[in-house]
Amino acid sequence: MPALNVLPTGTTLLIGYVVVGAVLIQLAVFLYGSLRSAAHARVARARDIERLDLEVSAARLRLVSVEQERSGWNGIRKFTVAKKIAECADTFSFHLTPHDRRPIPAFKPGQYLTFQLTLPGQAKPIVRCYSISDCARYTHYRVTIKRCPPPPKTDHPPGKCSSFFCDNVKEGDILDVKAPAGHFFLDLEKEKSAVLISGGVGITPMIAMAHALIEARSNREVWFFFGSRSSEDHMLRAETLALTQKYPNLKLHICYSRPGKEDVIDRDFQHEGRVTVELMKSLLPSQNYNFYLCGPGAFMETITDDLRTWGVPDAAVHFEAFGPASVKKAAKPEAKAAFTALPFAGGSMISFAKSGQSTRWSPAHATLLDAAEACGVRIEAGCRAGNCGACLVAIKSGEVEYLNDHGAEVEAGSCLACICKPKGALTVDA
Ligand SMILES: Cc1cc2nc3c(=O)[nH]c(=O)nc-3n(C[C@H](O)[C@H](O)[C@H](O)COP(=O)(O)OP(=O)(O)OC[C@H]3O[C@@H](n4cnc5c(N)ncnc54)[C@H](O)[C@@H]3O)c2cc1C
Repeated sequence: MPALNVLPTGTTLLIGYVVVGAVLIQLAVFLYGSLRSAAHARVARARDIERLDLEVSAARLRLVSVEQERSGWNGIRKFTVAKKIAECADTFSFHLTPHDRRPIPAFKPGQYLTFQLTLPGQAKPIVRCYSISDCARYTHYRVTIKRCPPPPKTDHPPGKCSSFFCDNVKEGDILDVKAPAGHFFLDLEKEKSAVLISGGVGITPMIAMAHALIEARSNREVWFFFGSRSSEDHMLRAETLALTQKYPNLKLHICYSRPGKEDVIDRDFQHEGRVTVELMKSLLPSQNYNFYLCGPGAFMETITDDLRTWGVPDAAVHFEAFGPASVKKAAKPEAKAAFTALPFAGGSMISFAKSGQSTRWSPAHATLLDAAEACGVRIEAGCRAGNCGACLVAIKSGEVEYLNDHGAEVEAGSCLACICKPKGALTVDA
């Protein structure tokens, strides 16, 4: 008998188990391998689909914006107030549709509209800018306007134009509007992650930025810090809270400095106190972001200074100033440098012919408009960035130098007070 046949039954069984086990292991390895490659293929396919989807929506956005850029306008265009919505205390949103019913141009998220209003009892129209607070819907623009309160401890009346919007402008009214403009916007083509920082009414351009990211189906990491006193003056609150559902990569941090009784931490807001760079340091993994700021003057000044101290390069900090204080204090460092590099008209006499006032130029004045305001001379101002043309003033003698390129046209013999400084002695018709 051959030797194999003499193996005891137990050994044969063992060999059988080993063979079956080995076959099962191989089968399992094979199955695992196939499942893994199938899973990989599925993930790769999903990624491809997502990438294609993103490319298609980016291409669609580009196409729409190219088409819409063609439908831009120069000067004034009539817009109808299609909707007026009460947002929170003393704050309203206005949906504006073009009166001529023609398409409206796309805008960059962060840009503003310039309004020219004739107010009762005012001889001259006044010009004011309001940021677009919505994403591009291609049918209307939305602006959100808060009544500008009088400075503390004064009995001055509240802001003229913002009060007019809140109290008088109604649905069906027709307004004179200039096309979207401004250099403060989120570049959707840039891949770097962003930090949006806003306080009070400064939320308006940030909301537009967040909506634009959602619309573009971007997946870049975005931090959104917002500060107000409480939910009572948190404008566009429901919309802010809903952002995170639509944009999972958006990390929202709401800070209330004086939360109301109904404001519940972790439900309505995340931090008690103000928005600070210390808070950002405790949350952000690094300072390698583009920072976008908009808010009251003191807030912007503190945040820009603290970001610089934290080591954020100035080129990564972008801001919009809504009023004079923020312009003066938060002037971009490169802008300040450009001013100091200009031949300094130190001590030159600046005269305002109509009001009979004069002052000596000093480096504390960032612009001619600042110098006028410092000695109580009122020059109309809208955007304070050389775009809206509201501060155009005739030069009677002397010359000026510009800090920035200007969007508004400058007639010969005049200057845009908000972005120029005198080259020497200067007399203007204000
Ligand atoms: C680019 C840009 C975007 C903006 N976006 C928005 C936005 O989205 N939403 C928004 O609400 N605002 C925005 N603003 C601010 C807006 O343009 C106006 O500056 C704001 O509404 C105040 O204008 P007003 O006419 O109401 O106030 P003004 O009449 O110009 O008064 C301004 C302040 O002066 C005080 N004042 C009145 N009389 C005197 C006096 N005799 N002496 C001293 N002080 C006095 C007023 O009480 C008020 O506090 C933006 C500004 C810019 C530049």
